[in-house]
Formats: sequence, C-alpha cells, structure tokens
Amino acid sequence: MIRQTSILLALCITLTLPTICHANSHSSLAFEFWQIIETNEMSLKDIIDTPDKNWTHLKKGVTQTYFLDQDYWKAAQGSTMWIKIKIPRRIDSNRVWLELVPNVGLDGQLAILENDHWRWNMPVGRQNNDNDILPATFLTFIIDNPRDHKIAYLKLQTSQVFHFNIQVKSEELQLNSLLKDHLFNGFILGFLLLAMIYNLAIGISAGEKMYLYYAFYVFCTGLYILVICGYPRLIFPEWGGDSIFSHLTALLAIFGATAFIRELLETANSTPKTDLILRAQQIIIFVSIILIGIVSDTSAYALVESMGVITPIILFLAGISAYRNNHPLAIYFLFSWSLFLLSATIWVWMWLGIIAADLNILRLLLLGCLIEVVLLSFVLGFRYSFLKKQTESLSDAKLKYQILSETDYLTGIFNRRGFIQQVDNLICSDRTRCVWLSIDIDHFKNFNDQYGHISGDKLLTEFGNMLAIKVRREDLAAKLIDPEQKSSYRRGVAGRVGGEEFAVFLINCSLPQARLYAERLLRDFEKIKIKHTNDTEVGTTISIGAALLTPHDTIETVWKRADRLLYNAKKQGRNRVIQEKETS
Ligand code: GH3
Ligand code: MG
Ligand code: MG
Repeated sequence: MIRQTSILLALCITLTLPTICHANSHSSLAFEFWQIIETNEMSLKDIIDTPDKNWTHLKKGVTQTYFLDQDYWKAAQGSTMWIKIKIPRRIDSNRVWLELVPNVGLDGQLAILENDHWRWNMPVGRQNNDNDILPATFLTFIIDNPRDHKIAYLKLQTSQVFHFNIQVKSEELQLNSLLKDHLFNGFILGFLLLAMIYNLAIGISAGEKMYLYYAFYVFCTGLYILVICGYPRLIFPEWGGDSIFSHLTALLAIFGATAFIRELLETANSTPKTDLILRAQQIIIFVSIILIGIVSDTSAYALVESMGVITPIILFLAGISAYRNNHPLAIYFLFSWSLFLLSATIWVWMWLGIIAADLNILRLLLLGCLIEVVLLSFVLGFRYSFLKKQTESLSDAKLKYQILSETDYLTGIFNRRGFIQQVDNLICSDRTRCVWLSIDIDHFKNFNDQYGHISGDKLLTEFGNMLAIKVRREDLAAKLIDPEQKSSYRRGVAGRVGGEEFAVFLINCSLPQARLYAERLLRDFEKIKIKHTNDTEVGTTISIGAALLTPHDTIETVWKRADRLLYNAKKQGRNRVIQEKETS
C-alpha cells in the first residue's frame, strides 16, 4: 500500500509541479498601480483630482491588507477601493488582460479614457455580445489598444477583503495560462469526482455510513474548489463573485469533514469526550450556515474565517486523541490531514494578509486537498478490503463450525443434532411415505469386551461409511432421474444418534420397500469384518425397527415407535427387521 501511495503521490507532483513553476513565468507587463480605500462614495472626478501623495503604491500589483489593519475590515462594510493604473507606452499586444486573482466576493468596473471621454468597462463575462472573449473565472477586464491609453481607474467593492494580485497579460499569455490553469484544476476536480463516486458506490452497496460521509465531504471540497477557482462567474456573471458561495461551500466542506472523521475514528465509542466536541462543532457549523445568510458581510466573513481556522485544528486534535487510544486508522488520518493543514494554513495566511496574494497559493491548496483525498481514499479502500476479507473468513469459519457441530467425528455422518435437523427439513417438504429406521448394533458391549474398543470404533466407522455411501448413491440416483427432485424416487438421510445406535430416515418409501431396504442393510452389515488378529476377522449383526410416519407424527413419536419395534427385534433374537403393522 505504501508503494502504491508513493507512486500516486509522485505522479500527482510530477503532473502538477510544472504548472505551478510556470505559473508566474508570464512577466507582468510594466503596468504600475496605486490604491485608495474610501468610504465617502467619491466620484471618478474626485478620484482623478486626488493628489498623488494620497495614493499608496502597490508593489508588483499586490495589495496587502493585514487582518489587524482597519482597511481589512472596512472592505466588507461597503467601502470602495480605487486602483489607479498607469499603462506603459511600449506594449506589443493590441489587447491586454487585467486579472484580479485569486479572489471571490470581489466586483467592480474599469474606467478608461477614450477620446477625452471616460468609458466604464464591465468585467469579462458581463459582455455577452463580445464573442471572442475567453472564459475568465476571476475578476477580469480587457483593455483594447492599450497604447492609446495612459491611465485607467478600477472601482472595486467586495463582500470579503481587498486582498488580491493584479496580473496583466497579453492575449497570447492569457490564453496560455488559462489553458494550464483549467487543465490543472480539471485534474484535481476529476480526481475528487472519481474518489467521490468510488466511495459513494461502496457506501451504498455496503451500507456503510462512513463512505457516504466521505463522499459528501469530497463532494463539498470539490464545490469549494470550484468556487475559489472562480468558476461560478462563468455561469452566473452577475453574482458569481459573491462571497456567499465560498462561505456556504467552505462551511459544508468542514461539516462533511467533521461527520466523516467522527465515523472514521469511531469517536462515539472510543473517545466520547472528543465526540461531544465534534458534535457541538457540527451544530455550530449548521447554525453558521443559517447565520451567514442573515448577518452582515463582515460578520459572515469573520464567522466563516474563524470556523475555517478552528475546525480543521479540532479535527487534527481528535486524530491525536484517537491515536493515543490506539485507533488503527488514526496515524494515516493524521498524516494526510497534516498535509492538508499545511497547505490550508498558507491559504489562510494569504486571506489574513500575512503573505501576499498569489495564484500559486491557491494551487498549493488544491494540491494539498488532492494529496489528502488520495491518501484517505487509499486508507478507506484498504479498510474496505480488510473488512471484506475478515467477513469472508468469519462466514467460512461459521460454516465450518456448523458442519462440525452437526457431524459425528467417528463415522463422518450426521450426529444426533445434525440428523434431527435434516429430518426436520425433510418432513417439512414431504410427509407422506416416510419411514424411520432405528438401528442398533447387537451385543456391541460383548464385541468391545472381546476385541477391544479400538476394534469397536473401527466397526462403527465402517458402518457409518456404509450408510453414507448408500445415502449418497440414492441421492445421486434421485438427482439423475429427476434433477428437480419432484419425482417419488427414494432418498434418505443417515445419522449416528447414540453410542452404537443409528437411524435412517427414508422419504418416498413405503413400509414394504423400507423392509427390503433394511434387510439389505442387515446383510451388508454382516459382511463388515474387522481384522482382529493376523488371521481372524470379526463382526456382528444389527437389529432394525421400522416405523411409518403418520400425518400427526412428530420426530419424537415416530422415533419412539421405531425404538419399540427395535426392542422387539432384540427380544425376538436380534439380527432382524421388525416393521410396523400397516394400517390401511
Ligand atoms: P444389545 O444387543 O442389546 O444392543 O446389546 P449391546 O451390548 O449392544 O447393548 P448395550 O447398550 O448393553 O451396550 C452398548 C455398548 O456400546 C456399550 C458401550 O461400550 C458401547 N459403545 C458405545 N459407544 C461406543 C463407541 O463410541 N466406541 C465403542 N468402541 N464402543 C461404544
Ligand atoms: Mg444400544
Ligand atoms: Mg446394542
């Protein structure tokens, strides 16, 4: 398993690293940016008139609002961010793309000076009449003929934070990076989809809650990834950037993770205190899902951000407590969850403004999710095959035990318990024309005394074998003649019901037929000889009582009658068959 996992991980990294490494190789054109955050609803004219000293220069187009700054929280309270863009003179391309990444909940317009008139441009995706626009998932603008412009202004609002990176690319580079990004995202999402379907199938077919919860968790993680990669903008250009999407999917994903991990680590049984915390966590997440639709954007953002930080840590701690309780899967969970936590921590740092916004951090998060899902899928697959094998060997053992408990160790035929069970089944299917033969070996005590117990045992074994062969032969004949066993061909079952007492139950057999059968048994038994000394072989005889099953009989009553007839046979001198008198 470790080998398979490492091969898969190596494959993931080989496939994804080049995309990550190349991602920032598109050099941003020499654009320059400044920012202002204001709450006074200034007009474009006011902004143009704002002196240069009021503007903050953005290094490499990266905004940096730290979560302890006022600006960070003002963003979601309805303030506006203006970005002044200085367009360089020397640009080869006739069209440049301006993309704000990676952000959700960010919206805005671009003002460009054209023929002495300011024109407002909508983001890509809102201009449905322009057919040659490539699909853009983040907040993206196009500047046509950039050489004709010197300056542009971006007016932005957000329901999260003004924390993004402005990337400017020529048409060719944009096409190139779009293709790579979508391929990378498609690879990650495709794998999550596979993992979801696989676990959903196991969950449904095996009726295992854990696999269903895992499928749900993977599904929600996939949704969250779709949202943070900006895909909702493709379908809902007007409100695809709304942060309600990312809030909801983030909460659903951590809800699914909590439910799944409770099942995986069996916290309800092994660590009840942790389970209580996880249950409370599920309730809080559920309440949060309702709250984000009611409270202000800032509160919703703070709520989701704090839940998103606290929940994975609590789940990690739950893993540690399960590990301390020697849960066999805890170590695998901790390993894969740590990898995810590592990438998620960097992602959260970016959102908190501790590190600069960068598309690579989004890619790192996706990679972390992928590795975590790959590893956990392996663990679950391994657990499933282990449980399956365990169930199979258990049912094998059960069958073996059942056979053993119904078989006589000396003769190999049914013991008393097995015989009664068999007769019970046969009686249920057919009551008419059934005969019970009670068989007892004559003077067996003497036989033992004279020739020893070992010889006595050998005689019992030989007799058992003989009965088994007879019964099997008749059963085979019945099956050959009528495979569906609807015919009235005689069949029987034999068992050792006591020390040297045997019984044969015959179905589809009249009393006269049973008598012939029993007399044949007497003769065959006489032929069984046990070697006593080198030149002497010894044997004895049997006596048989035959009773016909009546419609009102139970096993006990017919057995009792057959035993009485057997007793009569003994009294009349042994080595004989006594049958019931037929009443017509
Ligand atoms: P009868 O003809 O009246 O049936 O006489 P009997 O001696 O066969 O009957 P009895 O009930 O007096 O003795 C039964 C003997 O069967 C006693 C016991 O030693 C012997 N026996 C019972 N089970 C076994 C066994 O598993 N192995 C051997 N070798 N002997 C057994
Ligand atoms: Mg006896
Ligand atoms: Mg006897």
